[in-house]
Amino acid sequence: QEDVFKKIVSHCKEYGFVFPSSEIYDGLGAVYDYGQNGVELKNNLKKYWWDSMVLLNENVVGIDSAIFMHPTIWKASGHVDAFNDPLIDNKDSKKRYRADVLVEDYLAKIDEKIDKEVEKAAKRFGESFDAAMFKETNPRVKEYQAKRDEVHTRFAKALNDGNLEELRNIIVDCEIVCPISGTRNWTEVRQFNLMFATEMGSTSDGAMKVYLRPETAQGIFVNFLNVQKTGRMKIPFGIAQIGKAFRNEIVARQFIFRMREFEQMEMQFFVRPGEELDWFKKWKETRIKWHKALGYGDAKYRFHDHDKLAHYANAATDIEFEMPFGFKEVEGIHSRTDFDLSSHEKFSGKKIQYFDPELNKSYTPYVVETSIGVDRMFLSTIAASYCEEKLESGEERVVLRLPAPLAPVKLGILPLVKKDGLPEKAEEIMSALKFDFKCQYDEKDSVGKRYRRHDAIGTPFCVTVDHQTLEDNTVTIRYRDTMTQERVAIDQLSNIISEQVSM
Ligand code: ATP
Repeated sequence: QEDVFKKIVSHCKEYGFVFPSSEIYDGLGAVYDYGQNGVELKNNLKKYWWDSMVLLNENVVGIDSAIFMHPTIWKASGHVDAFNDPLIDNKDSKKRYRADVLVEDYLAKIDEKIDKEVEKAAKRFGESFDAAMFKETNPRVKEYQAKRDEVHTRFAKALNDGNLEELRNIIVDCEIVCPISGTRNWTEVRQFNLMFATEMGSTSDGAMKVYLRPETAQGIFVNFLNVQKTGRMKIPFGIAQIGKAFRNEIVARQFIFRMREFEQMEMQFFVRPGEELDWFKKWKETRIKWHKALGYGDAKYRFHDHDKLAHYANAATDIEFEMPFGFKEVEGIHSRTDFDLSSHEKFSGKKIQYFDPELNKSYTPYVVETSIGVDRMFLSTIAASYCEEKLESGEERVVLRLPAPLAPVKLGILPLVKKDGLPEKAEEIMSALKFDFKCQYDEKDSVGKRYRRHDAIGTPFCVTVDHQTLEDNTVTIRYRDTMTQERVAIDQLSNIISEQVSM
């Protein structure tokens, strides 16, 4: 699995999907750039989300709010006081770690040890091996399991109580060492705010400290009245937004899964108080259907309902996707009560209420939010589509089995040879189709190599222009997934392909 992940990361780079940021300067931690194919795939994902939210729902409208916002917004939202990670430093290596992640890694290592014991035994005993029974009776495994349970219980309690001293005690008691220095010379655990701050205005006239937004949601809350009034929106209704968010993540690993600059697609749905849990259920169902419609396989998704809720929430769940490194959150769905609007009312001193003509009264709407990371969606899409195949000829091919509407390039247009008027004919097809969907002209290397390049970026269709084309205006169309080919008339291409690639 780890191996597949490494291959995906290098595939993304080799084929122009994702590059490390500032690479010629040796990169910048957890910041990435999307290349020529990556940006197309990303735009298609955003369109898939935007259309399903804003086009299909008459009562959902979009906005695009600024990244900079009044600093008091982050006081009201709770981010200044509570958007923290517990950090610990190793005094020898001077490296900083998230204390909770050090403990999680420790627990994962115990799990690995248990798995190894089970694997070893399975090899020894062959078919008659009963893993569950082995785990219950083998003394070594039982010892690992007991240690795991003990640490896990302490850890969960420490997190729940926000007890930083206990978090450090666990690290010390478990003899966790710094991966760099190998020593156990740890500092205290401190809370560290994840927001990036900068200054607005010149320092001489007393610059104001502002933050890069850590989520897009607050831009929606503070525009609630603007949109509701100017759009004459009636509750229930939603406001959707796609945009960049910034978090100074300390454990920045797993490629584009956890970045310091990333993109979110959020929708805040405003409802009558008391109806929020029904809407929460409805959005849960709607959102999982949206994911599953991509066809990556239903078994790759699961809900993770939260037992421990944030103080402002009365229900929360994550949609998790099976990444190459396990099931991980791609989307959060939260019933946030009236916390955000009430808090902005308090901090701004402006009344933020809705007059409900049917109930003939005013109230602060409740909010159900759906929040998904574009980059995590991108990673799940690549992971689900990446496929290494052994062909009958004995050759291997790497193919991205992307859903056709998401593919960066829909049609590869390939003249068989670079002479006899074939390139000109191919250019003619390109000019005719390029307004319908993304086409790419490609004349370099053998046709076989060109097919492989298009397989690797997920192009669902390629057409080859040969000498017969000049006579009868037909081309060979080749399908990515089956690799089958057939002869079709040029004037049918637009229809055949448009039908498959439209969202
Ligand atoms: P995590 O627990 O993984 O840090 P979170 O619960 O803090 O995520 P939310 O604040 O609910 O995440 O943000 C909503 C969505 O934004 C997440 O489901 C995820 O898809 C995306 N997201 C959050 N942080 C990052 C990040 N650092 N890099 C990429 N995407 C992110």
